[in-house]
Amino acid sequence: MTEPKTAAETILIDLPGILPSLEIAYKDVHAHPELSMQETRTAALAAAHLTAHAYEVTSSVGGTGVVGLLRNGEGPTVMLRADMDALPIQEATGLEYASTDSATDSSGATTPVAHACGHDMHVAWLMGASALFAGARDAWKGTLLIVFQPGEETAQGARAMIDDGLLTRFPKPDVILGQHVMVGPSGTIAGSAGPITSAADSLQIRLFGRGAHGSMPQASIDPVVMAAATVLRLQTIVSREVGATEAAVLTVGVLQAGTKENVIPDEALIKLNVRTFDDGVRARVLAAIERIVNAEAQASGAPRPPEITPLDRYPLNVNDEASSDRVAAALRAHFSTDRVRHVGPAPASEDFGCFGTEWEAPSVFWFVGGTDPVVYERAKEAGRLNELPVNHSPKFAPVLHPTLETGVEAMVVAALAWLSRDAGAPARP
Ligand code: ZN
Ligand code: ZN
Repeated sequence: MTEPKTAAETILIDLPGILPSLEIAYKDVHAHPELSMQETRTAALAAAHLTAHAYEVTSSVGGTGVVGLLRNGEGPTVMLRADMDALPIQEATGLEYASTDSATDSSGATTPVAHACGHDMHVAWLMGASALFAGARDAWKGTLLIVFQPGEETAQGARAMIDDGLLTRFPKPDVILGQHVMVGPSGTIAGSAGPITSAADSLQIRLFGRGAHGSMPQASIDPVVMAAATVLRLQTIVSREVGATEAAVLTVGVLQAGTKENVIPDEALIKLNVRTFDDGVRARVLAAIERIVNAEAQASGAPRPPEITPLDRYPLNVNDEASSDRVAAALRAHFSTDRVRHVGPAPASEDFGCFGTEWEAPSVFWFVGGTDPVVYERAKEAGRLNELPVNHSPKFAPVLHPTLETGVEAMVVAALAWLSRDAGAPARP
């Protein structure tokens, strides 16, 4: 047997040994998903795990957030983050460890819950990485700041932890690292410098008309027609007001009005979601929405102006260029180059970016493939990649292997780009 050479090899030597327990932890969290800001069970598991590995543990940071600190001598501070929350979705994966749990949402309604975005995988990855670093302290130096975050799906969690003093109660990181499981061949990693996930804005719009008998439209101001015209006109923002090399998505996900076919209702409701990759484009699109919504109401003779209410907002998540290059170099040196792919920004959104922005620290976020490579290749050949179950689908089910070990390895290797005893030294050829 040859001696381990790099810090990554030394630390990862224990990965096969802990993999069975990580798999058990993953299946357990998957089978017991919790809604955003209600992650008490998952947080308790994370805290117990960190305590068992001699971290200084602080629970209840911003609700159910858990922070673990491992000081290992002089050196940089690296923050590793995983989100913990699940979604109000009925799981339809057919897995033997599928969730049958339900929960009460913030409106008081009972809803099924499922880990349809893979945050259970993120929890298992971070458990794995934190255990490996704790078990091989001689191979690295510096401080590890482990963050299990609540409420990503509602854009509440990162903000809640920051508002609860995360920035003042814990050491400022030199870099903040996070990763997300996505559609892509399992065993591969993808990312790039610059914007990596989009800004997202959700708005609710109430359009006011005047109800009347369906047989007497002249007595009404019909909010159904007003809403229909508004939805169509909103689609011209991306097609007519956003440049060919810019990008934006505008989706109307809710359109509601009326209760009976012969009654013209009083009002209509629209809920929409906007994704952008540039602050200037974002401002322009939001201004155009307001302009069109108000103008369509006016064109209908609405008795009062529409009511536009922001529902939630995710910031643009930008990978720091130098740090991103450092992570990519480390990943390429560890994995074979064909396992590290370059992808542009995803039209998904994340509140991960809040940490770096608020702490004024560089951050890097990347994607780990979770699709069976054979299934992925077949779908690609058939031109059916867009039929694979994506995040938030009731059928979203990452294959366990090698997704689990790839995410643990990626996190360890990326963190070592700062924490390894020879980090900062010229790269090996
Ligand atoms: Zn999600
Ligand atoms: Zn997610």
